[in-house]
Amino acid sequence: MGPGAGDLMTVRALEALQGADLIIGYKRYIELLAEFIGDKPVISSGMRHEVERAQMAVREARSGKLVVVVSSGDAGIYGMGGLVMELAAGSVPVELIPGVTAATAAAAKVGAPLMHDFAVISLSDLLTPIDTIMARLEAAGWGDYVIILYNPASSTRTEPIRRAREILLQYRDPLTPVAIVRNAEREGEVVQLTTLQDMLTVKIDMLCTVIIGNSQSRIEHGQMITPRGYQL
Ligand code: SAH
Repeated sequence: MGPGAGDLMTVRALEALQGADLIIGYKRYIELLAEFIGDKPVISSGMRHEVERAQMAVREARSGKLVVVVSSGDAGIYGMGGLVMELAAGSVPVELIPGVTAATAAAAKVGAPLMHDFAVISLSDLLTPIDTIMARLEAAGWGDYVIILYNPASSTRTEPIRRAREILLQYRDPLTPVAIVRNAEREGEVVQLTTLQDMLTVKIDMLCTVIIGNSQSRIEHGQMITPRGYQL
């Protein structure tokens, strides 16, 4: 469904919704899509019920229905795509419709920070060991990648973002630009530019995407740019 704004959903995704016999998704996303869903049959449930939703989708599809499973951003990026495919295990065909992911939606809001190599890292340790997450931060810091953090912090999970900053300060200038985009392309959107040293002074939660520049990234006229390297 893209990040939220109706006009950032792909035409293909919209057509899929219109052609569906049944739409299954997380409550909040179903609400955001209300105008496109109309009175079609819907099953929605809360956060952390992903496996249940995917199982239900596969069950309903096996019974012959054309089921659409809603995922925010791109369904194949920390989304429902892989889960549905694993559970379907070839029993019903599954098509993944790509979408505008939070990284590119947030990047466009702040300028053009992803003009060079970048790494996307989720700081959620619900399904990934924290040591793996930290090792990847270390590798991306060492590799001078622009880094995009998904699931950066929650009310109970504040430690990983603090550690991420510390790791990256070993490799990058404290004044490296950092963008924090909350609710990109949704109601309540907030875009903030800060630096690696000051990033924790900004409110960071699960509704935010964090973009940390590489050694070449800079702010120009209020926009964050990572130069590709053209001679200008
Ligand atoms: N499949 C989604 C990502 C799901 S993981 C996608 O491709 O965008 C959930 C995380 O994505 C959030 O914690 C946040 O870091 C990021 N995110 C998703 N939508 C966002 C939005 N509209 N604005 C800012 N960040 C967003």
